[in-house]
Amino acid sequence: MKYIASCSFGKDSLAMLLKILELGLPLDEVVYCDIRFNEKSLSGETPEMAAWIPQAEKILKDKFNITVKRISSRWTFKSHFYRVKRKGNHIGDNYGFPYVVGAWCNSRLKLEPMNKYIKQILKSGESVTEYIGIAKDEPKRLQRYKKLETENHKYVTLADLDITELEAMEICKQHNLLSPIYKSSFRGGCWFCPKQSLKQLKWLYTNHPELWQVLKEMEKDSHNTFKPNMTLTDLEERFKQGGDTK
Ligand code: SF4
Repeated sequence: MKYIASCSFGKDSLAMLLKILELGLPLDEVVYCDIRFNEKSLSGETPEMAAWIPQAEKILKDKFNITVKRISSRWTFKSHFYRVKRKGNHIGDNYGFPYVVGAWCNSRLKLEPMNKYIKQILKSGESVTEYIGIAKDEPKRLQRYKKLETENHKYVTLADLDITELEAMEICKQHNLLSPIYKSSFRGGCWFCPKQSLKQLKWLYTNHPELWQVLKEMEKDSHNTFKPNMTLTDLEERFKQGGDTK
């Protein structure tokens, strides 16, 4: 059995890791899926999070002698956005922005590399237990993962340790491992996430106009708008006029 902790450097996965260490649970590897906007300079993380991750890695190394392994998709957000569709709707167009439901970025950039990594281990004949930072107050996500379990691939979550999201935040704070993103922003996740709230998008527009501009340029090449039936220019106007973000 190989024990792997998935770590996004968000509060939940870090709290999971800290609890594993505190309880002395078996652990072989800590894996981070590095979602890229493009191959070179731009990460999918917000700049605040991208700057903080190396600091968190250093704390993990110095305090617990943990080295985080990085894996990545063969696709970046940009390369998949401009990939030409060969099946489904809009054949011949670019993939464009991911839809809110069934977002291609989630499957291609996040799940695919981790699944591939786990599959390789399973192929070698080993079983896997994956530690995932899903708290007990996230029942829907929890159910989704539990449904994916097989005899050789099990999940252990924060919920199994009876921990809520708020408690996860406290655990991270105690170890100086709470990302500063939670002070300024409302969630972790990619800055180009189609699932982010309008409040979060306004934060991006206000704090990272250069990234907002990148998305606006890309919208010209997308068959769909960034948010359903709402262009980024529409949103910009709304933000400028102090419109609500609900
Ligand atoms: S956080 Fe958002 S943009 Fe990033 S992979 Fe998940 S759904 Fe896609």
